[in-house]
Amino acid sequence: MADALLAPLGLSQAWADQPVWRILDTRFDPGLRFLSVWQAWRSDPQRPRVLHYVALTPHAPDLQALLALANSEPHLEPLAPDLTSQWFGLMPGFHRLMFEGGQVMLTLCVGETLGLLRDQQFHADSIFLDPGPEGGSCWNIWTTKALARCSRRGTHLANLSPAPERRADLLQCGFVPNADGTIAAAITRLEHFEYQPRWVIQHSRSRLGQAIAEPGTCAVVGAGVAGASVAAALARRGWQVQVLDQADAPAAGASGLPVGLVVPHVSGDDCALSRLSRAGVRLMLHQARTLLQAGLDWDQTGTLERCLEGITTLPHADSAYAQEWSRLVSGESSPQSHQSWADVLQPGTGHQALWHTQAAWLKPAQLIKAWLRQPGVRFQGSSQVAGLRLAAGQWELLDAQGQLLARAQRVVLANAIEARRLVAQLHPQLAPHPGRERQMAALHGMHGQLSWGRHVDTDAKEDKASFAPYPVNGAGSVVAHVPTDLGPAWFVGASYTPDRQPPPSPAQLHAYNLQRLQRIQPQTARVLAARFDSGAVNAWSNTRCVTLDRLPLVGPLDADDHAGVWMCAGMGSRGLSLSVLSAELLAAQWGGEPLPLEATLAASLHALRGG
Ligand SMILES: Cc1cc2nc3c(=O)[nH]c(=O)nc-3n(C[C@H](O)[C@H](O)[C@H](O)COP(=O)(O)OP(=O)(O)OC[C@H]3O[C@@H](n4cnc5c(N)ncnc54)[C@H](O)[C@@H]3O)c2cc1C
Repeated sequence: MADALLAPLGLSQAWADQPVWRILDTRFDPGLRFLSVWQAWRSDPQRPRVLHYVALTPHAPDLQALLALANSEPHLEPLAPDLTSQWFGLMPGFHRLMFEGGQVMLTLCVGETLGLLRDQQFHADSIFLDPGPEGGSCWNIWTTKALARCSRRGTHLANLSPAPERRADLLQCGFVPNADGTIAAAITRLEHFEYQPRWVIQHSRSRLGQAIAEPGTCAVVGAGVAGASVAAALARRGWQVQVLDQADAPAAGASGLPVGLVVPHVSGDDCALSRLSRAGVRLMLHQARTLLQAGLDWDQTGTLERCLEGITTLPHADSAYAQEWSRLVSGESSPQSHQSWADVLQPGTGHQALWHTQAAWLKPAQLIKAWLRQPGVRFQGSSQVAGLRLAAGQWELLDAQGQLLARAQRVVLANAIEARRLVAQLHPQLAPHPGRERQMAALHGMHGQLSWGRHVDTDAKEDKASFAPYPVNGAGSVVAHVPTDLGPAWFVGASYTPDRQPPPSPAQLHAYNLQRLQRIQPQTARVLAARFDSGAVNAWSNTRCVTLDRLPLVGPLDADDHAGVWMCAGMGSRGLSLSVLSAELLAAQWGGEPLPLEATLAASLHALRGG
């Protein structure tokens, strides 16, 4: 069945040896087309390096139906486990699912067709126009025009609609019947078109000008979660990436955090940060699942978020998040199924609480090492970049003495707060932009300290009773039972003070952490109080790089990307949730690929925003 569906499309000839192939499917359900294309990619020795499948759907597709399809054909069966682990929380909006080590990407877009098409920012190579079982009541000239805006000259479109008005709309919008498709049409009852408008195509889906046709060389400054995830995302697409850090080993900055939380942000109005954090957590969990050892480097334990009055606002009743949440509470969906973000109200504890199933603790340094080991990535330590110079069409990265450290076609500044200095040094080489001045002026550091100790040093009986088996967060956080070289340990954090002020002493910051622990997990605070009082608590501290609106800066440093210098920084307190998303966004924009987010949400991360 799959071959009969795909053969007439001539995919294997069309995508042979291409760096990337982008497919847009206007109707995901029931998923057979996606599974068939994925399988065709797997078995094709000349497959494109990266396959994107962007599928629209009015509702979250049913996993069980999809698995039944996969299991009904032996060659599709191996795809099922990867689907199951990522099939959760498919609320209205875009969801990026990654397969085959990130070389096959499914972007499921849930919602109303026209809005979803308008929120795309790529040109498809192949399109399936499937109006759906009801015959496409949502299809009209406007949806067809929106589809044309997602097409480049030569885009192949397979029309599954028998309605004559669909054909008329396609012709009007610049699609012409494909001669080769006539025989195929007789076999499959699909009509084949090519986007070949008689007029000059004016529109551009990308706000950043031309995509880069062939991957080249890139230098990334900074080997924290931001830099290493960018390097891995680019290397997956065929780039040769050199990652430079002033320290002799990776994860020397805030990403040296011994353990951190990957957990969605929740807000009353489901603000941009909340939506970005869900997209980011999804991608980070997938990276952890693929590259780390569960129980040792990370664990998807779930997280309990205490919603203390005045500190955390519960989701607003009409937000998508709240709707999913009410389905959970009413029993329509179940947190145990792991198919939702799984937030349940837990009354009776003195506070309200949210349970996040899709949440984990994670040791970022382990993940950074794994990213830097990817083929195509090279780490270069003890290399403090003090300047950048353009010479013969390439960027030269120089140390403080003007010695050459590296040379590359493109550069990404992922060195957190220190990026400011390099941007200032680059100033004469970049066209002025008020957004850049504004963002750089607002970038600031927030110092933070974690308090931690070994479980073996607490009374065994008390220890068992007082620490939750999962992280608890809210105003502050506690993560217990984390394996370390010194044995299982607990971590309480984290203070948050501007680095412009003289730093409080470690003892003051321990006291602050204990005070917050008393609010979110009083029984743990009671057991640890004596240890805090006696000073028998360890500290780990560093500085977060924070932006004006608490969202990362991802994008070129000049309006049209003439210079080829990008920024990926300002991860604030959520680098573990936002770094992979930021890296995927950057790499997608470079390659003219579908974005992992709605275009409007992606714009909220633009490095020059607000100018
Ligand atoms: C106490 C504390 C607790 C936290 N808890 C969490 C948490 O639970 N969850 C979460 O998601 N986030 C947490 N964070 C935030 C998280 O650590 C950061 O968001 C993240 O690590 C930032 O990563 P980065 O790569 O942008 O920056 P960094 O990790 O700081 O990396 C920047 C790198 O650039 C290098 N560098 C700087 N200048 C140069 C130069 N000129 N040349 C070469 N190299 C250079 C540095 O050596 C460094 O390695 C916490 C942070 C702190 C401080």
